[in-house]
Amino acid sequence: MSMIYEKSFGFEQEMKEKGVGLIFILSAPSGAGKTTLVKGVMEQLPGLRFSVSFTTRLPRPNEKEGEDYHFVSHSVFQKMLEKNEFLEWAEVLGNRYGTPRPDLKKLRSEEMDLILDIDTQGTKKVLKEVDQPILIYLLPPSLKVLRERLMQRGFDSLEMVKFRLSNAKKDMEEASGYHYVVVNERMEEAIEKLKSIIIAERCRRSKVSIIEKNMKQWEDKDG
Ligand code: 5GP
Repeated sequence: MSMIYEKSFGFEQEMKEKGVGLIFILSAPSGAGKTTLVKGVMEQLPGLRFSVSFTTRLPRPNEKEGEDYHFVSHSVFQKMLEKNEFLEWAEVLGNRYGTPRPDLKKLRSEEMDLILDIDTQGTKKVLKEVDQPILIYLLPPSLKVLRERLMQRGFDSLEMVKFRLSNAKKDMEEASGYHYVVVNERMEEAIEKLKSIIIAERCRRSKVSIIEKNMKQWEDKDG
C-alpha cells in the first residue's frame, strides 16, 4: 500500500467534528418530530448549536426555559422587537416567536454551525439577511400520522389540532422551495439523513480551505 493511502490528511474526520459557521434552517409543521430530531442529531454530531428562540407562548410541561425557548411576556418581546434584536420574528397561531441575531463571526471562529427551528414565514425573512442558509423541511409520513401525533401529545384541544392541521397544509406547500426534504417515518433514519446533509454541506462549503490546506501540506512536504 502506498504512503498516500496509509496516511490520510484527516479532512473527512474534521467535517464530522467541526462546524464551519453554517446556518441550517429546519422547518416542519408542529408535531412532525422536529425537536426530537434536532436533539438526536446534536447528541451524535459535534459542532452544532441550537438557536433558542424567544416566544410569548406558555411553556409545555416537558419544555425548559433557555433550552427549548426563552419564554417571555408580550411586553418584553415588544421591547426586543423595538430594539431590533431579532433576525426575524413571526406570529404563529396567535403567539409571537423571534430568532435572536446570531454572531456569525463568533460562530465561525468557534467552529460551530447553527440550527434555526423556524417556520416558513421566518425562513423567507432570514434569506434576506443571511448569506446562503441551508433549508431543510421535515415532513411527517402522512396527514393521518401527524393528526395522531398531535392528538397523542395532548397539548391541544380538538379545535387547536384542526387549526394546526390546516396551518400545516399551507406551510407544507412551501417545502418545494427548500434544499432538502426529509420524511420523518422512522426517527433513527431521519437523524441519519440530517447528519448526512450537515456533513455534506460542511464538505461543500469548506472546499476552498480544504484544497488550500492540502496544497500547503504538499508544499511543506516538498520543501
Ligand atoms: P411550537 O409552538 O409548536 O413550538 O412552534 C410553532 C411554530 O413556530 C413552529 O412551526 C416553529 O417552527 C415556529 N417557530 C419557533 N420558533 C420560531 C422563531 O423564532 N421564528 C419563527 N418564524 N418561527 C418559529
